[in-house]
Amino acid sequence: MADNKHREHEKVVIIGSGPAGWTAAIYAARAQLEPLVFEGAGSRTMIPGGQLMFTTEVENFPGFKDGVLGQDLMMEMRAQAERFDVRIVTEDVVDIEVGARPFTIRSSGGKTVKADAVILATGANAKWIGLPNEERLAHSGGGVSACATCDGALPPFRNQVLAVVGGGDSALEEATYLTKFGKEVLVIHRRDEFRASKIMVEKALSNPKIRPLWNKVVVDVLGGDFITGLRVKDTVTGEASEVEVAGLFVAIGHQPNTAFLKGKIKLKPNGYIEMPVPWRTNTSVEGVFACGDVMDDYYKQAISAAGTGCMAALDAERWLAHGGGH
Ligand code: NAP
Repeated sequence: MADNKHREHEKVVIIGSGPAGWTAAIYAARAQLEPLVFEGAGSRTMIPGGQLMFTTEVENFPGFKDGVLGQDLMMEMRAQAERFDVRIVTEDVVDIEVGARPFTIRSSGGKTVKADAVILATGANAKWIGLPNEERLAHSGGGVSACATCDGALPPFRNQVLAVVGGGDSALEEATYLTKFGKEVLVIHRRDEFRASKIMVEKALSNPKIRPLWNKVVVDVLGGDFITGLRVKDTVTGEASEVEVAGLFVAIGHQPNTAFLKGKIKLKPNGYIEMPVPWRTNTSVEGVFACGDVMDDYYKQAISAAGTGCMAALDAERWLAHGGGH
């Protein structure tokens, strides 16, 4: 690994190592911008490679007709970037100064790097309920997931009773999607009214396979190697009960990884990076570009993240070619 190969002054620094970050790195490297990637240090909820590291089979990423494991896909992307001599630092970026160019980037390992252009690709984390068995089974591929689009079509979920937790658009969209595979989909919501848009609520509630469980929170996930059920608690009466399910899909929102950008780059009220120019990857700061889930609270797909990673590298390349950074 090339941790010690960073220079004091880089042309392009890419922060993040999901599909957006690696695609940006591959494009920037091929444009001879010699990018440096901070791939992240890894924590309990996020590891280098991003959210696909927590999923199993990916069947909707073009080019893999038999599907590909999320971790394998990310290892391939990383290796592809390395083939073009991309230098990689396995540390988090903890601070970025954007008031003057070149920009200054500080990492968790104490490195300080100047950069003419920066590409932000730090992604988002799915929010989890926070239960030990939820985390265990999510990491082991035991039928707990934060992405129905990624995992819902897998064989263990076919013709089974599945549960979605949440009451927003994501929860109802995921529940509707899961009705293609499951025999029944329970939507477990902590209140007696969905937060989701009216149209999504109507669509979900008119689906005979969807059954809401109102005023319930999940307090434990049951099962050894694979989920067998949930222990739920009524938020009004406090009464506890168990439901048998063969899959749990947590859809209680995402958290963009933008804490280190607060006050530096303009963020939307929900914390995602604001993109001032449609169909461009510019941020509020000239020379700082953003791609992937950190700027996308709508599509949130690996392939769309990769696409915007390509766009960010091209935008950075063009900006630098026209004198940006100087
Ligand atoms: P969201 O709107 O923030 O909804 C999160 C849901 O999870 C809420 O119902 C919330 O309950 C529940 N929740 C939060 N924390 C919880 C916890 N710890 N335990 C149990 N339940 C919890 O998030 P989202 O559904 O991911 O949507 C995010 C944004 O993307 C929204 O603006 C949404 O409209 C948009 N979106 C749009 C579409 C579409 O148009 N097709 C699809 C997906 C997402 P409470 O309601 O009680 O707070």
